[in-house]
Amino acid sequence: MQNIGNEMKDEKCKERIEGALRTILVEVGVNKDSEIYKNTPKRVSEMYLELFAGLDERNEPEITMFDNNGYRDILTLKNIPFYSVCAHHLLPIFGHVSIAYIPGKKILGLSKFPRIVKYLASRPQVQEDLTAQLADYLYKRLKSTGVLVMIKARHLCMEMRGIKAHNVETISSAIRGVFEDNVSTKEEALKLLMS
Ligand SMILES: [Zn+2]
Repeated sequence: MQNIGNEMKDEKCKERIEGALRTILVEVGVNKDSEIYKNTPKRVSEMYLELFAGLDERNEPEITMFDNNGYRDILTLKNIPFYSVCAHHLLPIFGHVSIAYIPGKKILGLSKFPRIVKYLASRPQVQEDLTAQLADYLYKRLKSTGVLVMIKARHLCMEMRGIKAHNVETISSAIRGVFEDNVSTKEEALKLLMS
């Protein structure tokens, strides 16, 4: 029953987005009778629901964790690719996420990290918020001992409009837990991520 309800809600939502997109296309001045635009509202509506899937909690990845058999050091995952959309202009933000973390009593399967990144990136985002949300998720949800998240990204709203500054890389970071309290552990993590 729940699923049928959700499907109907999704269908209505898609139709409303399509209607809004039709209005935008007409208002910006395209020839709405042209064959090219016939299916554009439908395509873009489906694309939005895909790009913003992370706003729907039903799409949160399943988190499977294993017992940690004594691993007390830093684990790093470098250059996980991500794509998001900026909350201010709805234009792409893309780049790489690097994570250094020290697991707690449980350890997360490595393939889950890119899934969590994708889930949190699949919504209109501000890079700083995405960085903090990821650090909080890994620290609180996974009960990690320490987390350091670094994101390097390009923002098309800064490149193709406005200031038109090409290839600017914005770097943001967030630290939680032991990395906040222990400078040498933080430095070790940064060295691993930069190597
Ligand atoms: Zn923007």
